[in-house]
Amino acid sequence: MEITGVDQYHLARNLDGSFDPTWVPGYPQSRHELELFEIETDAGITGVTASPSFPGGIDYGDTLRLLLLGENPHDVSRIRRKLASLDLLGPRPWHVEVALWDIIGKDAGKPIYEVLGAMSREIRCYASTGEVKSAEERIEYVEDRLADGFEAVKLRITSREDIEIVRRVREAFPDLTLMVDANKGWAVRAVGEEERWSFAEALAVARDLEPLDIAWLEEPLPRHDYRGYARLRERTDVPIAGGEFNDGPHEVRELLRHGAVDVLQPDAMLATGIQEGVNIAASARERGVRFVPHTWTNGVGLAANLHSMTAARSPWCEFPIEPPWTAEVRDFPLTETIAAENGAVEAPSEPGLGVEIDRSVVGR
Ligand SMILES: [Mg+2]
Repeated sequence: MEITGVDQYHLARNLDGSFDPTWVPGYPQSRHELELFEIETDAGITGVTASPSFPGGIDYGDTLRLLLLGENPHDVSRIRRKLASLDLLGPRPWHVEVALWDIIGKDAGKPIYEVLGAMSREIRCYASTGEVKSAEERIEYVEDRLADGFEAVKLRITSREDIEIVRRVREAFPDLTLMVDANKGWAVRAVGEEERWSFAEALAVARDLEPLDIAWLEEPLPRHDYRGYARLRERTDVPIAGGEFNDGPHEVRELLRHGAVDVLQPDAMLATGIQEGVNIAASARERGVRFVPHTWTNGVGLAANLHSMTAARSPWCEFPIEPPWTAEVRDFPLTETIAAENGAVEAPSEPGLGVEIDRSVVGR
């Protein structure tokens, strides 16, 4: 089989309002923008992938054609080595590998998780917020999610004072599984700067959270401060999570090598691709580290991570909900929205990624 074409589409959809994600400080989001790629083969099978984008788009279709045309999509390791050049000179390449697995699965007539040697399974979801909101609003949010069937919620904090929000939510919901994301690992600095914490501040936050029985504190320090994470982890009982947006398997393995985290979160689209993500998950398991990838990109990204999580037996799936950012907005390029039922989700079971692109969206 041979790759014969690469098509790129810049897709955008307006949100019904806007929200203020902690990872793009000072720049409210009123549109969902992404780059969709379709990789064609001489077997008539097309693989898809997608990456988050900026207004106006990021065009690297020509570069992908240079790297991919004539290659056999089954030769994932060889193509990954070629794609590493994209990481040197252009956007991150990890999401591109996902389209190869889509092709391989479709060729085999099996969902990707089956190709990876796994069986279908339900993964419990946590509802993932995107902005810092008042305790009153968050209590209402949790009530809505409990009504939807969720049993776990992740709150955002940016300052030590925000711990009061976590405290109030914990008081209102003693049995809720509660995660906390500080988002200090990285930021898109389009307008503002994120508030960073010193090591001492991160430690103070972690210790403040200790009595609140949280499942993890996510990204309290910059994503490359491997030793800082390891020191923090030694000095608090709160489980520490990170690694969602580290660049490539080497960086993610550094987190493991340093004993930096209790929960490792490399996103297949942003950090590792599927092949190395699943390999790293096995290494994490050997060290007693849980593998719970970040998923907040788009529906193609959620599907890709669901296949990795199914293969890696992840205990949780991040399920973003921060209206007007809804599952429908996230998955707008797909014919079908990936839904959480009773607070759990399963990887799509159709061949490959198991998602279908809505041609009317691409047509526009
Ligand atoms: Mg995060």
